[in-house]
Amino acid sequence: MYEIIARTAWSLRRAERILIITGAGLSADSGLPTYRGLGGLYNGCTPEGLPIEDVLSGPMLGRDPALCWKYLAELGRACLKAEPNAGHQAIAELQRLKPQCWVLTQNIDGFHRAAGSPPERLIEIHGGIAPLFCQSCGAESDDLEGHLQRSLPPLCTACGGVLRPPVVLFEEMLPEAAVERLHGEMRKGFDAVLSVGTTASFPYIVEPVLQTRAAGGFTAEINPTATELSPYVDVHLRGRALDILSQLLSHIAGD
Ligand SMILES: [Zn+2]
Repeated sequence: MYEIIARTAWSLRRAERILIITGAGLSADSGLPTYRGLGGLYNGCTPEGLPIEDVLSGPMLGRDPALCWKYLAELGRACLKAEPNAGHQAIAELQRLKPQCWVLTQNIDGFHRAAGSPPERLIEIHGGIAPLFCQSCGAESDDLEGHLQRSLPPLCTACGGVLRPPVVLFEEMLPEAAVERLHGEMRKGFDAVLSVGTTASFPYIVEPVLQTRAAGGFTAEINPTATELSPYVDVHLRGRALDILSQLLSHIAGD
């Protein structure tokens, strides 16, 4: 393992343009449950007998905001209880060392920002759990915690409209600005791509890896188990994101 970490660190040190893709496995080390998209937080169906994909969907937020918010609130509480871990911090540190290192995350917990990743080099492809905004007038509210202690759905103090988080619900599109930023950076190309704790094989994860590999760049994955991505990366570092990222960083920063 030491050798494979050293080899990965060597490749990352030589790279200028780096993309780090992060998924649920990274935040699992902060105590957040591993979920596939939003839905895996729950096992299949809600007590209401509806698939979680229906309950946490854009149409449901419009039709029955109280029901949708019952589950959004669980996500919100899970995020508020947890904190960024040493893995998030190692990534932020790598971004300080590498001014062209980008983070693309599937996670909605905001932990990359909290750990110090620069917002201008952070693409939150599934949005985030905060700040809430009013669907009617657009006013923002930073007080997720306060709203979760009152009756749901949370309402806008300015106009009475229903508030929502800027998260991508089921049946909603990915945020256009985030997708455009990713594509813009992909056109410039990456010297190295590191996928951390991702399991779902969405195109926006697979494509940068395949493109970088085809162009002769370095690709690596950190995950305790093999994933659909594993056959396509140069290096598969088997283990927890938190441990391996910390070791990688000490190699990269240390010599
Ligand atoms: Zn409003």
